[in-house]
Amino acid sequence: MSSLIQVNERKRLFIGLLTASLLTAGGLALAVWYLIVSPQQSAAYQLVLLVLILVLVGTVVLVGFGLAGILLTLWLSKNVKWLQGPMRIALNTFFPLVLGVGKVFRIDMDRIRNSFVQVNNQLIEAMHIKLKPESILILAPHCLQRSSCPYKITTDIENCRRCGKCNVDDLLKMRDEYGVNIGMATGGTLARKYVKEYKPRAIVAIACERDLTSGILDANPIPVLGVMNIRPHGPCVNTCMNVPTVESAIQQFVR
Ligand code: SF4
Repeated sequence: MSSLIQVNERKRLFIGLLTASLLTAGGLALAVWYLIVSPQQSAAYQLVLLVLILVLVGTVVLVGFGLAGILLTLWLSKNVKWLQGPMRIALNTFFPLVLGVGKVFRIDMDRIRNSFVQVNNQLIEAMHIKLKPESILILAPHCLQRSSCPYKITTDIENCRRCGKCNVDDLLKMRDEYGVNIGMATGGTLARKYVKEYKPRAIVAIACERDLTSGILDANPIPVLGVMNIRPHGPCVNTCMNVPTVESAIQQFVR
């Protein structure tokens, strides 16, 4: 079975919405073109519309190349270097439009974000990045810590007594085994602080769909492998993670 067919439903959702966004922008360009050729418009008005259409067409062409790059990368499982720029533009600048189109079709926002993370992860995997462990940062949310635990680990993860009652213990085991860095973040501000402090060249981030998506876009151009957290007690309390998935994400980056 070809890799393209293996692009599962979750990835197809984002790619489908990206294509729909591209068609929407193309349709908008056509509408502007219709206004330009309409004889009632003044020359100044037509000039403004012409600039607008040039920007729109330029963006549509760039994002079109980006979409082609994403599909090629997923298909070949190989990085297509010369399409990296358009791919980044397609993922970053069109993401709000993708969410907007999803809203029109009443698609759950978290499903779209999840799909975006899957696509992002496969694109990162295709880059075959190999780094020294100290260049890798694991960013984890503080809600992984058991809510009844009295030790404050967001200021210093060494405060964890490693009792094994939550996944913080597993994170520390992986840190010791692979020699990577860890940051437990209470939100975006602290996450950015860890990125500034450790200057990672790659990140393994564990979070919910919303935080992962904004984190991946924020960290750009640093590659981020996203691992969705598990929320058996609802959001932001006593969350868990799939340990083998996190470990395999670390292994993908470690030289
Ligand atoms: S492993 Fe134990 S000590 Fe460490 S954060 Fe979790 S509950 Fe607290």
